[in-house]
Amino acid sequence: MKTEFTKRQLRNDNLQMANDIFRRCVHCGLCTATCSSYVVAGDERDSPRGRIYMIKEMLETGSAPDASLTHHMDRCLTCLSCMTTCPSGVDYMHLSDLARVEIEKRGPRPFRIRFTRGLLSSVMPYPRRFAVAMSLGRLARPFRPLLKAAGFKELAAMLELVPKRGKQSPEFKGGGVARPRGQQHRRVLLMTGCAQKIVRPAINDASIRLMARQGIEVIVSQDTGCCGALDMHMGRESAAIKHARRNLEAWQALEDEAPLDGIIINASGCGTSVKDYPHLLQNVKGIEEQVAHFSAKVYDISEFLADYNFGMAEQWTDLNVALHLPCSMMHGQKISYQPMQLLQNAGFNIHTLDEAHICCGSAGTYNILQPDIANELGQRKAAHIARVKPDVVATGNLGCLTQMGHHSVYPVVHFVELLDWAYGGPCPDGLEHLQDRVDRLAKTNKRNK
Ligand code: SF4
Ligand code: SF4
Repeated sequence: MKTEFTKRQLRNDNLQMANDIFRRCVHCGLCTATCSSYVVAGDERDSPRGRIYMIKEMLETGSAPDASLTHHMDRCLTCLSCMTTCPSGVDYMHLSDLARVEIEKRGPRPFRIRFTRGLLSSVMPYPRRFAVAMSLGRLARPFRPLLKAAGFKELAAMLELVPKRGKQSPEFKGGGVARPRGQQHRRVLLMTGCAQKIVRPAINDASIRLMARQGIEVIVSQDTGCCGALDMHMGRESAAIKHARRNLEAWQALEDEAPLDGIIINASGCGTSVKDYPHLLQNVKGIEEQVAHFSAKVYDISEFLADYNFGMAEQWTDLNVALHLPCSMMHGQKISYQPMQLLQNAGFNIHTLDEAHICCGSAGTYNILQPDIANELGQRKAAHIARVKPDVVATGNLGCLTQMGHHSVYPVVHFVELLDWAYGGPCPDGLEHLQDRVDRLAKTNKRNK
């Protein structure tokens, strides 16, 4: 793509980066066919190529983001499916990050959208505030139709996603160290997610048990916090940097005690962001080595566990599992086979979904801020799940779990919960109806031995 930046503009690092990205694009449009917003909206401006043109126009002219760019960028899910498809290696992720920062500073948005975004940014990354918000949200759920009728569809969508059940009790509370069974041979930090530890702490419990069984000491630190993804996706770069720096300090303090063998993430949306810390923190001077050191230790839990031989599962369930790989895992981190391999080794029958590359509509806070497209994508994913008729749906990110749980009639769990169950952990929440069938199968297997 031909660009028209002036020499003066190109002395700006961000514009130089954008220029390099634009010049890789050959206008082929292949990305359009696999774009999660385009498949629903069918508008070129809701495709990667259309957005790239609009961002280029804004940056070259130095003009403020207009209503059209703001609208169409807000409809992008940051699913990064376009990056998997693009044959030219166009770095849409960092280009869209750059555009979002500009839009957040100068883009026109109605008051209700700015209010909702501010609310999300000041509540979701903070577990205590989030827990209070969940309780209030449960009380306010009946008022969804009123909010919708008054034009506050984003707030109505937020209440729609509040889990009906109250706060769950985690087995492992707060910070601490889970000592491994048998001889310890590795020491890792588990990032427990901001919303995850409130909405479904069982995911962290299962992750800890799985690793502790393998002789891994698992640390949960109260000093680590939000990864910054939520703010970064909303163009709030300085807030994202603040979160990232807090985490770096906490990791350094832990490593000053003893070396860490890994920083383990079981929410793939967070994983994509944490792996991108070198880019996010590139302009913070004096910490380059520290950032490079720690980012080399960040693993999605599926990548980390793929190296382990778990042996024969204690409960060979033979269940049919529809596997939904989150976009942040598949496109953001290029993780494709590890969750499937781990689940198959544990005795599950894995079924992949049609249109697996298309987002389920969760995309961080997207299903709150863009409920119409998110609902359509959620229903589309639910239809693909229904074709498989699984016993259970497994995924690797709380957002997808919530979104599919909302749209699909099939139970949805995190794949670590299934793995933990297979290797001796409790039956995951929502699968209690399957336990009898699994027990019967275990008895038959025993008789046949
Ligand atoms: S990130 Fe996803 S929704 Fe956004 S342009 Fe790329 S494919 Fe489309
Ligand atoms: S696939 Fe890549 S090169 Fe082709 S239009 Fe999309 S971004 Fe440009």
